[in-house]
Amino acid sequence: MFAQPIARLRGVVKNYHLEGGNIHVLRDVDFSVCPGEFVAITGASGSGKSTLLHICGCLDRPSEGTYELAGENVGLLSDDQLADLRQNYIGFVFQDFNLLPYASVYENVALPFLYSTLEPGEWKPLVLQAIDDVGLTQRLRHRPSALSGGERQRVAIARAIVCKPKLILADEPTGNLDSVTSREILTLFLRLHDNGATILLVTHDQDVAGIASRLMTMKDGRLSEKA
Ligand code: ADP
Ligand code: MG
Repeated sequence: MFAQPIARLRGVVKNYHLEGGNIHVLRDVDFSVCPGEFVAITGASGSGKSTLLHICGCLDRPSEGTYELAGENVGLLSDDQLADLRQNYIGFVFQDFNLLPYASVYENVALPFLYSTLEPGEWKPLVLQAIDDVGLTQRLRHRPSALSGGERQRVAIARAIVCKPKLILADEPTGNLDSVTSREILTLFLRLHDNGATILLVTHDQDVAGIASRLMTMKDGRLSEKA
């Protein structure tokens, strides 16, 4: 049913070397995400969810094994090539929003185009469209401090989708929000998915994970499919 995976990890191991010994965070993870999927990974705090997501987002590299993004073996790319691939393929949403405090909603969402070779006439409509997609057209000139937590996360989501990424990665995207606002943000993810987005979300919260169409669990550095 699905085409070639967008993201594929094969035998991925991640170790950290500390003075007290090695920490084995990921042990032999095989996993792929195909176009159109909405996958959630749950697991206790410290189980390696963020580490896995950072590898998927090219923010970190495996100690062993390979990561392929859109068929490209990321381990063979230079840092510049990796940055290009990330820019074109990945949209990342964080728990703490990661917005620029002194920039407006519009400027925050336009950030990915700062070094773009596109003309402003080409990217400006994309920025306005992404802001409209998350329902914040009435807040264009507001700074993050003048927004609610839910609105801030909407800005971060608009910034993540503005380049029309092939894969949206979300790390505990509702972790800083109350339950009502969390629902609104999850509804937004569902709408993006209905409109064709491919999403990988990690969370310690089973209820949050429940909105995804495919569920996985991370335990002791290993990933398994939930029935
Ligand atoms: P989760 O997101 O599931 O809470 P993480 O992926 O953040 O888990 O962390 C998994 C484990 O890896 C934890 O034990 C954490 O302390 C360890 N870890 C993460 N990053 C580093 C690092 N840069 N150096 C050493 N240990 C790390
Ligand atoms: Mg984490």
